[in-house]
Amino acid sequence: MPNNPWLEHYPEEVPHSYDYPKQNLAKFLIDSAASYPEHIALEFLGKSITYSSLLQSVYRFANALHRLGVRKGDRVAIMLPNCPQGVIAYYGTLLIGGIVVMTNPLYVPREIEHQLTDSGAKIIVTMDALVERVNKAMERHPMQHIIVTSIKDYLPFPKNMLYPIKAKKDGMFVKIEYNERILSFVQFLKDSADTPLEVPVDPENDLALIQYTGGTTGFAKGVMLTHMNLVSNTIQSHLWFYQSQKGVEKYLGALPFFHVFGLTVLLNKAMFTAGTLILIPRFQIDDVLKTIDKKKPTLFPGAPTMYIAVIHHPEVSRFDLSSIKVCISGAAPLPVEVQERFEKITGGKLIEGYGLTEASPVTHANNIWGKRKTGSIGIPFPDTLAKVVHPETGEEMPLGEIGELVVKGPQVMKGYWNRPEETERVLRDGWLLTGDLACMDDEGFFYILDRRKDLIIAGGYNIYPREVEEVLFEHPDVEEAVVAGISDPYRGENVKAYIVLRKGSTTTEQELKSWCKDRLAVYKVPKIYEFRESLPKTLVGKVLRRKLIEEENEKLVNQ
Ligand code: AMP
Repeated sequence: MPNNPWLEHYPEEVPHSYDYPKQNLAKFLIDSAASYPEHIALEFLGKSITYSSLLQSVYRFANALHRLGVRKGDRVAIMLPNCPQGVIAYYGTLLIGGIVVMTNPLYVPREIEHQLTDSGAKIIVTMDALVERVNKAMERHPMQHIIVTSIKDYLPFPKNMLYPIKAKKDGMFVKIEYNERILSFVQFLKDSADTPLEVPVDPENDLALIQYTGGTTGFAKGVMLTHMNLVSNTIQSHLWFYQSQKGVEKYLGALPFFHVFGLTVLLNKAMFTAGTLILIPRFQIDDVLKTIDKKKPTLFPGAPTMYIAVIHHPEVSRFDLSSIKVCISGAAPLPVEVQERFEKITGGKLIEGYGLTEASPVTHANNIWGKRKTGSIGIPFPDTLAKVVHPETGEEMPLGEIGELVVKGPQVMKGYWNRPEETERVLRDGWLLTGDLACMDDEGFFYILDRRKDLIIAGGYNIYPREVEEVLFEHPDVEEAVVAGISDPYRGENVKAYIVLRKGSTTTEQELKSWCKDRLAVYKVPKIYEFRESLPKTLVGKVLRRKLIEEENEKLVNQ
């Protein structure tokens, strides 16, 4: 059998290898603005922004940041829903060699604090409604600058007028007081020139992004992604998913940009192909269906829950969804019946892919034109190698046998930010240990069977049990706690907490829930609670999370 049997299943249109340009990631936008200046780059709340106007704003932002003292290698956090201001801040930071730290707007103060202090970001771009949370999170390490925008504060610039934007304080909306530290996004751009500015970077070594992903240490680790990691993965996705002509496609921008999947297959890819990106700040299924019907996007990358929401909408047949040609599903397994029903409803193709933050993220996908296998994550991308190895010895497993999936390619991260031991643990001779258990068939198609790490994926969000357990453990009445992902037909998994309370305690499920809500983003808060006398453990006292999951699965079978 050939070493890389998947190559025989490459569609004719897709090269096995490609010469990726060594450049700043923001060059995608510069090139598209040069070739398609009047083409619509972004659509947001009924407004359109052309490529030339977007690039002008990006240059203004870059100049303003530079004037503020931001230099190559400095970290700039962005905590925003999908909106033009986020796109401007992202490319503006990249142009001056800054490193972007995308922060989830759902984070509570302790999560924000970890991310901002760990990355050493001194500047954050956020919106009015989130300023109080940022200030609270950073009481001990105040940010040098908070650049504040509002969702209404959209461009095109400079027609947009300044008006007082409001922040929430103690539940009340108050006018934001700007000063040297708290800056208005619009004013920030207004005070600055749109002269081109590009600080030279070494694309193979300089970081574009520190992207946080959960870890076994309880708190998220920063994944260091270089300009070249992201340039390569964007082009790999383009080669694979739809080698559309430039200036033609319309992207439905529903995947959040605070996850690297959204950045690569949506934002960077749209800019690379001079497409029109319809920004969806919040996934609300009624609005999404109306947007598809009216705006006619052709590409809709997403997570399985988004496609599930579409097919389960009671009035889905009222909407014309026939513009959709190709969807790429990633982040979690795509149920077969969801794929089939979605394709029937829209007439487009729904393709399953696979990846992880450490690989920018995509490494595998099914074919659009050629052979695809349901239940499989497909075959490796161009220039990407993959194999299944023994989790302990690292030896390659015989064909069809289960082991750990390891991958190699230009999209694989440089390492974890400030965590050399963790980096050494997962990067061996350029091979990335994914932590996922998988097998490969004789045609080179891969199948994910389980996660070696304990990641829970609920509604497309990643939840690391350890982090939730730590919060539960902090409760004075909790003696032991373990958290597991329990199968759920809609959300993929639900977070369930198994609790052993201290003797005599009368703490209720409701109390634990609100304890967690105060300390964790809402999607991490356990939905189900079970109180027990004790928990199953190994001889060394490690809780057997897998055993609890098996018990749940048995319950499902016996139902
Ligand atoms: P993240 O780093 O947030 O992108 O999460 C990566 C993890 O998501 C992977 O290690 C897998 O466990 C999981 N994942 C991504 N895509 C798939 C898929 N198609 N099927 C199963 N699990 C997936």
